[in-house]
Amino acid sequence: MSAGRRDNRAVTDLDSATSMFIKQYRLVLDNLPEPGVEFEASDHIPQNLVKPSRDYGIIKHVGRSGEKRTFETTEKGHKGIQDWMEVEEDQGGFLPCGHDGLTNLGDGKVQCNRQGCKQIHTKAAIKKHNE
Ligand SMILES: [Zn+2]
Repeated sequence: MSAGRRDNRAVTDLDSATSMFIKQYRLVLDNLPEPGVEFEASDHIPQNLVKPSRDYGIIKHVGRSGEKRTFETTEKGHKGIQDWMEVEEDQGGFLPCGHDGLTNLGDGKVQCNRQGCKQIHTKAAIKKHNE
């Protein structure tokens, strides 16, 4: 495994299904309150994500507010979301490895300039990464 490469499943301490769910919806799930704060799910995430978020243990049902059920974000769910948001920041670069500086190698290939990375990418992979 080359430096700078990450296995997605290793990003969080969660099982891979939960981790992948968080990855997919991290930008929405990041709106959830911190653990210990009781909330109505519909104030923070779309209705269709309430059940899966609960099934994956990212939020838990804690009570009621009138007709509505109230939830809290779990510690493990909160941490998983934060872990993914950090990866998002790390991998925000133009290149698939997450960095920006590059050297054109010709023949449709470029190399990352980052010390300790130096991954070679195809232009097709870069295009896909930036879609
Ligand atoms: Zn790189």
